[in-house]
Amino acid sequence: MAIRDLFSKRTGAKEEKSFPAGMMLKCPGCRKIYVAKEVEQNAKVCPHCQHHLKMTAYERVDIFLDEGTFESFDNHLKTTNPLGFPSYVEKVEVDKQKTGLNEAVLTGRGLLKGQPVVVAIMDSHFRMGSMGSVVGEKITRAIERATIEGVPFIIFTASGGARMQEGVLSLMQMAKTSIALKRHSEAGLLYISILTHPTTGGVSASFASIGDYNIAEPQALIGFAGRRVIEQTVREKLPDDFQTAEFLLEHGQLDAIFHRHEMRDKVATIVKLHTEGGFLNV
Ligand SMILES: [Zn+2]
Repeated sequence: MAIRDLFSKRTGAKEEKSFPAGMMLKCPGCRKIYVAKEVEQNAKVCPHCQHHLKMTAYERVDIFLDEGTFESFDNHLKTTNPLGFPSYVEKVEVDKQKTGLNEAVLTGRGLLKGQPVVVAIMDSHFRMGSMGSVVGEKITRAIERATIEGVPFIIFTASGGARMQEGVLSLMQMAKTSIALKRHSEAGLLYISILTHPTTGGVSASFASIGDYNIAEPQALIGFAGRRVIEQTVREKLPDDFQTAEFLLEHGQLDAIFHRHEMRDKVATIVKLHTEGGFLNV
């Protein structure tokens, strides 16, 4: 299937999430100006410099899973405002309308080249992909379903980190998700973490970094604290490519970087390698 065809088969994403006809877009990588549809039809990769633009969770489902196989989980969970943070609920409501999601992660089951998997896909268009109670709960429930069903769990991360409006309840999600992953691992099951731009803060410091495979998209920003904070703390100038996927791969913190166009094929091969006798079929 041509990449340009991938986006014509949307799985429930609202139509307004695609670019309006004729809208122009400047690539953040090379500054070249495109008709936005041209980039969208290339899986949101700049045809000139290969810069990977941000995707919505539904767009990711469309290019990653077998067509029509995705079934979402836990869309009924509602974000509350436990600390009484001013205008928090209203802001969440705006992002719900904007993205068609109930929170900053979409979870569900589907087939990856015929193989059953459970996926969680974070969406940075929703409160910068930050992790509050509902994001942590959705991810944990998805992991637990994968464990019960005996299938691999795959996550695409994109996050500004733990959500400050829920304070310590957000931080607790780091431990909760990590414990669920430990149980998944103890059941002998596969976990693949795919880090996309940007993956930072409490998400990078918990489930994003503890995959059996930690894979990233090219040039993704991955880190815990921001560059300026670190420079001020260690009183040193950091290298230009610090916190890029390429830097992390070079320093042994990632297993691979896959171009978005090859992500589905490569991850499907990894999953197949980990099924019983699968290495004989790859
Ligand atoms: Zn470009």
